[in-house]
Amino acid sequence: MRESRVRRTKTVCTYCGVGCSFDVWTKDRHILKVEPEQGPTNGISTCVKGKFAWDFVNSQDRLTKPLIREGDAFREASWDEALGLVARRLSEIKAQDGPDALAFISSSKCTNEESYLMQKLARAVVGTNNIDNCSRYCQAPATVGLFRTVGYGGDSGSMTDIAKADLVLIVGSNTAESHPVLATRVKRAHKLHGQKLIVADIREHEMARRADVFLRPRPGTDLVWLSAISRYLLDQGLAKTAFLDRWVNGLEAYRASLEPFTLEAAERYCGLAAETLKKVAHMIADAPDVCILWAMGVTQHSMGSDTSTAISNLLLITGNYMRPGTGAYPLRGHNNVQGASDHGAMPNNLPGYQHVDDPEVRARFEAGWGVKLPTTKGLDNHEMVDAIQDGRLKALYIFGEEMSLVDANTNYVQDAFAKLEFFVVQDIFFSETCRFADVVLPAAPSLEKEGTFTSTERRIQRLYQVFDPLPGSRPDWRIIRDVANHLGANWSYEHPSEIMDEVASLTPLFAGVSYGRLEGYNSLQWPVAADGGDQPLLYTEKFAFPDGKARLFPLSWTEPVDQPDEEYDLHLNNGRLLEHFHEGNLTYRVEGIRRNTPDVFVEVSPELAQERGVQSGTRVELISRYGHVRLRALVTDRVHGKQLYMPMNSTESPVNRLIGSHTDAVTNTPAYKEAAVRMRVL
Ligand code: SF4
Repeated sequence: MRESRVRRTKTVCTYCGVGCSFDVWTKDRHILKVEPEQGPTNGISTCVKGKFAWDFVNSQDRLTKPLIREGDAFREASWDEALGLVARRLSEIKAQDGPDALAFISSSKCTNEESYLMQKLARAVVGTNNIDNCSRYCQAPATVGLFRTVGYGGDSGSMTDIAKADLVLIVGSNTAESHPVLATRVKRAHKLHGQKLIVADIREHEMARRADVFLRPRPGTDLVWLSAISRYLLDQGLAKTAFLDRWVNGLEAYRASLEPFTLEAAERYCGLAAETLKKVAHMIADAPDVCILWAMGVTQHSMGSDTSTAISNLLLITGNYMRPGTGAYPLRGHNNVQGASDHGAMPNNLPGYQHVDDPEVRARFEAGWGVKLPTTKGLDNHEMVDAIQDGRLKALYIFGEEMSLVDANTNYVQDAFAKLEFFVVQDIFFSETCRFADVVLPAAPSLEKEGTFTSTERRIQRLYQVFDPLPGSRPDWRIIRDVANHLGANWSYEHPSEIMDEVASLTPLFAGVSYGRLEGYNSLQWPVAADGGDQPLLYTEKFAFPDGKARLFPLSWTEPVDQPDEEYDLHLNNGRLLEHFHEGNLTYRVEGIRRNTPDVFVEVSPELAQERGVQSGTRVELISRYGHVRLRALVTDRVHGKQLYMPMNSTESPVNRLIGSHTDAVTNTPAYKEAAVRMRVL
């Protein structure tokens, strides 16, 4: 009898932070089907991307040879030659300008083990803390809001807990398209189990249309109405005083900071009726258990960290922490943006959020790694671009990130990349960023490697190798290991499980994480104690501060930065499409998806369309202070007035050409949602 070539292998989806897991059925290199098998977050559900968007793995465009720049072109090279060149040039630049002239960017799409190795390469081999990841572009402000108030930066509980809430408030999240399987849980709880749903967004997307109350604030004013509701609840004696007395510090300073945030002020600044806000306040006060979900509509603003803090403040004064069905749920965008930060791909933190300037922490890692470590915070992604522009940063090594399109102010970023003395890009396709590289290293996607991802609910899950890496390509962890060894390290990792064992030995947050405990569909939600006990509910007996109490954090508010004016009279919002992932380098290579959703568009309100003579399909040019793009209009009442919306999933018309370099004041996360443009009909 012939041996069956049909295989069934468990993996974890790479298309968003929900962390759906499923079996992939294959025959040779053909994907026969994707079958969800009671994944811990998704049960038997997936969305269109998780189910169908995998054909890119066998795309003819895959990189299978290292490439080395020669003038304006690239030539193929052997791995030995490419790795030798990378090591030689990084060493030369370090010798000439010091370790901080080099920087490293890890991938929030790749595994925990790969992020761990990338930060170890930066710190232990090169000697710099210049290491960051894509959380800088999305959820770093949410993490700050939670660090300030409750101690950990992660989601309070599990997705199944969200379904237990009596009321869900969603702020600045197009959940149905960005986190589809999670949205299904909310839709079901709302429709079948009487869960109340309040949605606040400037765009009337699907969840907004389903909501019991839809708030449409003026862009960039979420902090104001959230704080006004907090003040109203405190003034009316509707705050949960027993919870505040037992669990929360800082009430008086917080209450004083709320002085300007009356309902009338919120009506003036946000354009929301005071009566509506009063109704929302009472709904929140009356609901036994409330959780709040938020995403980039909050974080990608110049006040992203403070608005995230305002959300957590509101949860604290209403006693909505420490029980299933309560708490804070910042929804992570990429599949492993949580894990990349968890594993130390940050300029200020070693793995497990252990600070680089803490001598005790450093001593533990120095003993484990056998090196002296740099002592001060490194550059974040945003600072790296400025440092290239002003000549401080000479070399950059990026893997698995299309930074030249993903960072704000594309023209400025690409101009910076062209100035680098040496640039290494590691990816599965020849991305836009590769155009600026000196060496391109061909990597393997998730289906071709082993490792772990951490989903938005802090859930660590294993993915297993479905296919061998395409001949010539290598898993990212192997490439990073080989680069380190060419630089003189002596890393002997032969399997990602060995890397995770090292993480566990150095990082209390992951002390009990091991591949054995993650076998198959098993998973762990950090923190994980040495005996393997994990914490699905993050706060049960205390908050993550030394005295066990949470902290209310006083706030103030300033106007958004890039506002419409006479010359640039329209506000441009941006976000995801259900069918496409990020800049689209994977999903546009999936025939069925590309045919269904071939390109992006700009949404124009019916009233603006009439005023400007625009119809669906009309070609228009959007022009901002920073660049311009051309695309087709789609007339829809999802947007209103002089607000436009543009999906971010395009390499031809990247929305980030239109966005400036202004950032959240605390984290340097670009304020992608603050953009003023004008529109020209072509
Ligand atoms: Fe993948 Fe997210 Fe869809 Fe789940 S919801 S299948 S993780 S894209």
